[in-house]
Amino acid sequence: MHTAGAIPAPMKILIIEDEVKIATAIRDCLASASYQADVAHTGNGGIAFLTERKYDAVILDWMLPGCDGIGVLQWLRHRGAKPPVLLLTAKDSVEDRVTGLDSGADDYLVKPFAFAELLARLRALTRRTAAVDPFQLQTADLILDLNTRWASRAKAEIILTPREFDLLAFMLRHKGDIVSRGMIAQEVWRETNRSTPLDNVIDVHIARLRRKVDSGHATRLIHTVRGVGFFCGESSPTVPS
Ligand code: CA
Repeated sequence: MHTAGAIPAPMKILIIEDEVKIATAIRDCLASASYQADVAHTGNGGIAFLTERKYDAVILDWMLPGCDGIGVLQWLRHRGAKPPVLLLTAKDSVEDRVTGLDSGADDYLVKPFAFAELLARLRALTRRTAAVDPFQLQTADLILDLNTRWASRAKAEIILTPREFDLLAFMLRHKGDIVSRGMIAQEVWRETNRSTPLDNVIDVHIARLRRKVDSGHATRLIHTVRGVGFFCGESSPTVPS
C-alpha cells in the first residue's frame, strides 16, 4: 500500500545506441532526471536486455551495427507487452519517418537533438502507456490487438478469420463472465430475427477457436459451460444458479 509521501519507483529506460559518447550522455541526462537506465551498444545486446528485464520505455538508435533499430522493432512487435519506443536517427526524410513509425516506433527524434526535447518526448511516451491500452485485449498469454486485428498466444501469431477474431474479442471483453449463445448471436453475428438459431454455427466457431487458441498449450483458455455458454480465461467464473 502507498503511504503519503512515498517515493515512486524510478522508471527504467533501455538505451540502445552504438555511439558510446552519445549513449553515455543520454544515460547521464536520464539519471539527472531520476530515471534508471541500462545501455546496450548493439541491437542484439538490446534484445538480450529486453528479454531479461522489463522497461518503461526504450530509446533506440536506428543505425546500429548488425541488427539495426528496425530489426529490434520487428523483434519487439512479436512480443506481447511492448514498451514504448523512441527512435533516434539522423535520417529525416518523410519516407524515413513513415518507415520508422510503421515499424512500430511510438515516436521519432532526429539527431542532433536537445536533451530537454528527449526528456519531454520520454515523459509523453511513459505517460501514454501508464493508461491501459484500450486497443489491446489480453488474458494469460493470449493477446488481441484491435487496431491491427492481430492475435497471438505465447508470442506466436494465431491466424483467425474476421468472424473468429470478433468472437474471441467479444469473449475477452467479457473476461471473467460466461457469454451465452444468445449474447454471441446478437453481438457478434448481429442477427436477432433468424428463423433458425445460430447455435450450431456458433458451436463450430468455438470449436475452431479452441483448436487455434488452445492446441499445443498446457493451459486451456476457451471453455464451455454446459447449458450456459462459454468463457475465455484461465480461471472459471462462477456459474449463475
Ligand atoms: Ca548509430
